[in-house]
Amino acid sequence: MSKIYQRIEFLRREIDRHDRLYYVEAKPVIGDRDYDLLYEELLKLERENPEFFDSSSPTQRVSGSPIEGFSQVRHDPPMQSLDKTHTKEELSDFNAFISKEVSGFSYIVEPKVDGVSISLTYENSRLVRAATRGNGIVGDDVTLNVRTIKAVPLTLPPEAGENLEVRGEIYMTRDGFLRLNEEELEMGREPFANPRNAAAGSLKQLDPKEVSKRPLDIVIYNAGGEGCDKFSSHSEMIAAFRRWGLPTSPWSKRCDSIEAVFEAIDELENLRHSFRFEIDGAVIKVDERRYHDILGATAHGPRWARAYKYQPERAETVVEAITVQVGRTGVLTPVAELRPVQLAGSVISRATLHNEDQIVRQDIRIGDSVWVVKAGDVIPAIDSVIAEKRTGQERIFKMPNRCPVCAGEVVRAQGEVALKCVNPACPEQLRRRIEHFASRNALDIRALGPGVIDSLVEKGLVKDPLDLFSIDEITLSKLDVSGHRFGKNASTVIQALSVAKTLPLNRWLFAVGIANIGVSVAKDIALEHEKFSQLKDSPALKNVIENELKKGKERKILPIKVEAAKAVYKFFEGEYGTKFLQRMMEMGVDPAREAAAEKASSGPLVNAGCVLTGTLSKPRGEYAKLIEKAGGIIQNTVTSKTKYLIAGANVGASKTEKARKLGTMVINESQLKEMLEGSSYDDGANKNENSAIVEEKQSNPIQDELFSL
Ligand code: AMP
Ligand code: ZN
Repeated sequence: MSKIYQRIEFLRREIDRHDRLYYVEAKPVIGDRDYDLLYEELLKLERENPEFFDSSSPTQRVSGSPIEGFSQVRHDPPMQSLDKTHTKEELSDFNAFISKEVSGFSYIVEPKVDGVSISLTYENSRLVRAATRGNGIVGDDVTLNVRTIKAVPLTLPPEAGENLEVRGEIYMTRDGFLRLNEEELEMGREPFANPRNAAAGSLKQLDPKEVSKRPLDIVIYNAGGEGCDKFSSHSEMIAAFRRWGLPTSPWSKRCDSIEAVFEAIDELENLRHSFRFEIDGAVIKVDERRYHDILGATAHGPRWARAYKYQPERAETVVEAITVQVGRTGVLTPVAELRPVQLAGSVISRATLHNEDQIVRQDIRIGDSVWVVKAGDVIPAIDSVIAEKRTGQERIFKMPNRCPVCAGEVVRAQGEVALKCVNPACPEQLRRRIEHFASRNALDIRALGPGVIDSLVEKGLVKDPLDLFSIDEITLSKLDVSGHRFGKNASTVIQALSVAKTLPLNRWLFAVGIANIGVSVAKDIALEHEKFSQLKDSPALKNVIENELKKGKERKILPIKVEAAKAVYKFFEGEYGTKFLQRMMEMGVDPAREAAAEKASSGPLVNAGCVLTGTLSKPRGEYAKLIEKAGGIIQNTVTSKTKYLIAGANVGASKTEKARKLGTMVINESQLKEMLEGSSYDDGANKNENSAIVEEKQSNPIQDELFSL
């Protein structure tokens, strides 16, 4: 076998091993940088040697194009729910029932992971299917989305047997959820309510590329249909899953009596905030699998298992005041200032109230005693008012009709919930815009904390984020930041600013802070432009906007969303955008698109082997370039790795027939053109659960106004 193939296989196994060490064992042995080097080498070798393509390679987790919908998968046996208990008495009843039916058994107590249940099917040791529970009998095929989750092995070792179906839960990690929500907030969007919603919404996305950006993980805790019969106990089966590289729960307890179960569920409750996933209870299972058949199941769930739900944690406190925050785009958000209280592992002193409508709906008044919870265990929120504790001294809150910071005019745009300060010189909006400009996903100027920003704005040293680049180190170091001289920190800021100038186009586009333009949208737009300066009067953006006006078949699926294209176009057309760009040119900064590698690793034809044949209307070389730009791989002859045979005029039937036999799709020139123009975005298709709210928040006429001043 060729040396190259050996190296490719070595790299694949090595990357799988490191994924496993990282995701399953939580014991990584190499750093990100070394991992990236292995990955890049594999990517390069595979691209240069398309004959060694393998769909189970770690490079093949993300498939190129979005899908139109999910097909249905039948579950055999059905994916059931669990009967629930809330008290130890109910659990004693469960124990009495089990003891009556069988004898000589033990229990396993596991965390009840709060995510989305999933079934994984491996055939010939390869992952071939992932399906949601759906109604238990029929679920959605979400294979392409689940493949993007690095904790899910794409192949299993031979010991696992050829065919295996396992079941578990896909969840969003707590950290990942917080980060995702931070991004949503930075974008001025409504955050996800909890990690479970975020996980469910992510799996429902139609574009695997979007899913791959979501911090999802998995725990396997149940047998599926096939390949699990050989185990005599649940605990033995789970241990085997883990050996085979399937992530399993980091905590579980074997108990010989119901008293031991009680202890275990208490122990687990104390640990509940220490896991990467959220838990909403414990699951108690009979360990001996021979009893599972004997005990059987009801229509709802197995008779050999019970869920025990923990009380949601909540704490009582008092709303001492309601203040109003002004956002980057001028949106006013009411915030409850709470008497500090301990809840679920941290002290809570503030909770956002989102908008006036919510305050009215929950009838929250200043001075009220309230129950606070952590939505999805992380975001503090007011659950309800304790009306019995009202003394009559509570005051009803009204949103101000002037900006609380600049006293500027406040308006409610038609059809929107939010009130906005429309003063273009509002210092608070400026502070927020600078914060955004300097944030991690934008220009990452960490040393520029809220204190410095305050002081820069107060002194009038910065009237626009770009002014940051004209401050000199001495002025900066003399700055008074909350009673201290900024001093040596100034050089850190200056350094970060000079690095910022070298950052790529997508980061700058995000940093500008145009409504609708989040991190990933900025990346998509950046891929279509070589330089920042090309964003003005961009033909690519114009194309998207004009395409919108076309009807039916004529309309194409383009790589940029229409709303985003419009927002960027409008920004650079406006006076502020024009000036912004002009200043950047004066500074000699014209951020460029990131290296070409990124382009080729995404795109409508990513990693698709393509063969061109017959007479085409353009030179083959030109098509070859376009195909490569779209992520495709040009091959000279059709092999089993060829995805598309592009047949021009005068191609013999025998040639196309042979290709079909090898599983290659035969397409004509115009279909190819369509594919090259189309891409991984379908406006409106990959909406998550929060899309309604997101949409409402996104239209932002005032900001557009602001930018055209
Ligand atoms: P519920 O969705 O509240 O009806 O609870 C039943 C669900 O709990 C199951 O369908 C699983 O998705 C989920 N679950 C979470 N952790 C476990 C676990 N350790 N064992 C079994 N089911 C679990
Ligand atoms: Zn204001």
